[in-house]
Amino acid sequence: MSFWDIIYYYGYFIGIILMFVSMIISAYCKSSFKKFSQRMSSKGITADQVARYILDAYGVGNTVTIKPISGSLTDNFNPKDLTVNLSESVYGNSSIAAIGVAAHECGHAIQHHVGFVPNKIRAALVPAANIGSRFGVLLAMVGLILMGVVEYNGTDSTIGVTITYIGIFMFSFAVLFYLVTLPVEFDASRRALKILKQDQILVGEEMSGARTVLTAAAMTYVAAAASAILTLLRLISYMMRRRN
Ligand SMILES: [Zn+2]
Repeated sequence: MSFWDIIYYYGYFIGIILMFVSMIISAYCKSSFKKFSQRMSSKGITADQVARYILDAYGVGNTVTIKPISGSLTDNFNPKDLTVNLSESVYGNSSIAAIGVAAHECGHAIQHHVGFVPNKIRAALVPAANIGSRFGVLLAMVGLILMGVVEYNGTDSTIGVTITYIGIFMFSFAVLFYLVTLPVEFDASRRALKILKQDQILVGEEMSGARTVLTAAAMTYVAAAASAILTLLRLISYMMRRRN
């Protein structure tokens, strides 16, 4: 049994397993955030103060503003208006989780400031990835159906094959985006944890709490990338099967 046979026959099953794994990771991410939201840092400084300190101390300076936003786990760095947006449970909060998340978003601001290459690639991929994730799979499915239908009638299936190829090509940009997101996210957390430790913003056991929260968050990106890769492989395996 070849690799493509395994994907063709067991892709659906692997997909279901992946879906469960993603759900477990997501639940773990939320629960670890909740757990370390209840542990206050011994220094008593709030996450937005930490963010301001990091931006100033690491050369990003006053060009980046820090704003509170609504929602939970909605924290982000917006490179368009240069803001670090911190959610309700982070902004003004001095918990280990809040400080870890704020430092992570500052990590993204620093990446933007220093021109971190994977971050640039990721930004460049956004338009193609958006289109690809929205229409790629749909188009490939239409193409596959056409291939089946047209072949059934015993005529040429060029149109079906072409549409399938275009769909797969478009979706591969979404997959690429998910993959490039990984080094960007891991690097932001790495920068955050390094600063929190060396500048003694978090001390002793507090560090392992922040690390747990950020690692759990990073795992959700790994799960998303894995399921996108599986979808791409499944589409390719269907096409190969139809073509033979
Ligand atoms: Zn991030």
